[in-house]
Amino acid sequence: NLSVKLERAFKTLKGQGSITEVNVATTVKEIRKALIDADVNYKVAKEVTDTIRQKALGQQVLVSVSPGQLLTKIVDEELTSLMGGEKVDIDIKGDPAVILISGLQGSGKTTFSGKLANMLKKQNRQVLLTACDVYRPAAIEQLKVLGEQIDVEVYAETDHRDPLKIAKNALAHAKAHNKKIVIVDTAGRLAVDEEMMQEITLLKEHLNPSETLFVVDSMTGQDAVNTAKTFNERLNFDGVVLTKLDGDTRGGAALSIKTVVNKPIKFISTGEKMEAIDIFHPDRMARRILGMGDVVSLVEKAQQTFDEEEAKRLNKKIRKNQFNFNDFLSQLEQIKKMGNIKDLVGMLPGMNKALKGIDIDDDSFRPIEAIIKSMTVKERENPDLINGSRRKRIANGSGTSIQQVNNLLKQFGDMRKLMKTMNKMGGGKRGLANLN
Ligand code: GDP
Ligand code: MG
Repeated sequence: NLSVKLERAFKTLKGQGSITEVNVATTVKEIRKALIDADVNYKVAKEVTDTIRQKALGQQVLVSVSPGQLLTKIVDEELTSLMGGEKVDIDIKGDPAVILISGLQGSGKTTFSGKLANMLKKQNRQVLLTACDVYRPAAIEQLKVLGEQIDVEVYAETDHRDPLKIAKNALAHAKAHNKKIVIVDTAGRLAVDEEMMQEITLLKEHLNPSETLFVVDSMTGQDAVNTAKTFNERLNFDGVVLTKLDGDTRGGAALSIKTVVNKPIKFISTGEKMEAIDIFHPDRMARRILGMGDVVSLVEKAQQTFDEEEAKRLNKKIRKNQFNFNDFLSQLEQIKKMGNIKDLVGMLPGMNKALKGIDIDDDSFRPIEAIIKSMTVKERENPDLINGSRRKRIANGSGTSIQQVNNLLKQFGDMRKLMKTMNKMGGGKRGLANLN
């Protein structure tokens, strides 16, 4: 599974202070391997990982996000752009508009025709399904059953085997019966052959469809890409439908098809039911492939608001074991700037579970801030100066209890110890947010 492999690749970067030539090279190599294992075309995998490496090396590492998280965001952006960036709608033009469905036998054409008809019908459009797979009687029956199920009329002729004639009659029928969209389901073969290509090309020439879709089974991996290439060379289709993305399917086909044929994926099919159809969104697909919580939005949020200079300054202090309560206060300010604390914490994978039942909001920081602000500047710089009677006065001054003051001092002491240890191990480049 691609997302599991990518997650493993990112682990290499976890616990590393910054993105360097060395750690990025290792991770990028693993990402490339994961993509190729998931049936992504070798050339495509190489190109995308080269871009990822370049972008990663040019990035400033922020205190609040780990290099692994930052790289996740870069990979997400690259995968999204690899799959076309933005969603592309189908073209529905003409009176009636014709949507031609092409692809190999078993790819899911008939099922998809039904699903698309159902989707359009729900948008209050008048749809006619047309059965042009004339070689197997069962194929016509299959479409009729689906049509009944979704309550869409199916046009079929069973006394001859001329798909073009059927399709033309279907268009006339549509005009006469006020149907605005005609979906033409066609015959496929088990493999690409000349007869099938001639038939589908003929249909396209004479029906003048505003949208020709190529349906492909995503479980066929690298073959899917090759078939897409062949069909596109002959048919010059407008968009791709990826089927059978439910179950154990590898995402590789989705990643390479757009690059190889330069045509957008427009729909995905995720099951046999008529509702199992989705408009293809490259960004959603990338996130699904990455499957790592919403790290991407977290990084975006952090980048939007985090003051880079301040981050660098804090980093330096941490490295020199000089991190004090003033710095802590400043970091709290930064965290609060990022918005709702609970949202922010919830975006970290695994954190939601860990924090279940614990109430975190901006208010949780209020007593901490009050306590720190009740200290003198000297005390903030050197908390060891705070003795028993000072603790009492700080508690009084901040409207908290001695217990709360003691807790904060203890936690801060522990945190500084941890930072010291990390500095000794050479891993102290990261900021506070990554220490817990
Ligand atoms: P056609 O030969 O291209 O018309 O393919 P069909 O529409 O007849 O589909 C072939 C088989 O794949 C049928 O058993 C469908 O139920 C099944 N199928 C189609 N789309 C999907 C899908 O998205 N997911 C799954 N799991 N099965 C599908
Ligand atoms: Mg069929």
